[in-house]
Amino acid sequence: CKNLVKIYKVDNELEVMALQGLDLTVEKGELMGIIGSSGSGKSTLLNMLGGLDRPSAGNLIVDGQSLLNMSDKELVQYKLQTVGFIWQNNARNLIPYLTARQNVELPMLLNGKRKKARAIELLEMVGLGHRLNNRLSELSGGEQQRVAIAIALANQPKLLLADEPTGNVDTKTADIILDLFRYLNNELGVTIVIVTHDMKLTKKMDRVVAIRDGKTSSEILRRKFFDEQGRELLMDED
Ligand code: ATP
Ligand code: MG
Repeated sequence: CKNLVKIYKVDNELEVMALQGLDLTVEKGELMGIIGSSGSGKSTLLNMLGGLDRPSAGNLIVDGQSLLNMSDKELVQYKLQTVGFIWQNNARNLIPYLTARQNVELPMLLNGKRKKARAIELLEMVGLGHRLNNRLSELSGGEQQRVAIAIALANQPKLLLADEPTGNVDTKTADIILDLFRYLNNELGVTIVIVTHDMKLTKKMDRVVAIRDGKTSSEILRRKFFDEQGRELLMDED
């Protein structure tokens, strides 16, 4: 992202400048964390990276390709094949009356594939092999979150974007989810960007970037820095 700006028009008079010239480079193969206080622009940034919304100005290049120059068709391909997205609130993107397996199969169908076996494999990977045929409405919040992760992985994305993936789950589930991200990153080479408030989670990341008022803070918090300075200082940075 180069000099990324996002202005939301709230009504005719009021505008919110959610991103104010943000520069950010995510390396291929990296597991990066993004922290920042509420309203600092984290979800806005992730939405831009995922092609869910367009920036007002600036440049956004993924794997050598400018997202802003893509045709509508290319953008659909990008969203279906290149990125996987885990939302801050997944409830609106899961279908409660379909089973876990059917929910995971849907994005593959959109991509012209029907892969029951792959859906089962993905659900087993997120630890839900025993809940394949339960409707989403019968699963707990943490289990639904894991279904959302399986969905994000359905089309084998190169880039996984997760907005507060452990925001609504207990510590044990948070650990399972992070281990899963670590596995995807280490073993399958997926580049991962995670927005989080969870300081425990940031400890296991390659790099943590703080956003303040729609800009990356001048301080890039690396793990070494984190370890030396301890948890409290990082909390202050947030
Ligand atoms: P949180 O930690 O609470 O999720 P965030 O860092 O993800 O916060 P954003 O959701 O990116 O913050 O919002 C950044 C700013 O843009 C906020 O001031 C928010 O009110 C505003 N904003 C976000 N989405 C919209 C929208 N669709 N229309 C108008 N303003 C918006
Ligand atoms: Mg947010």
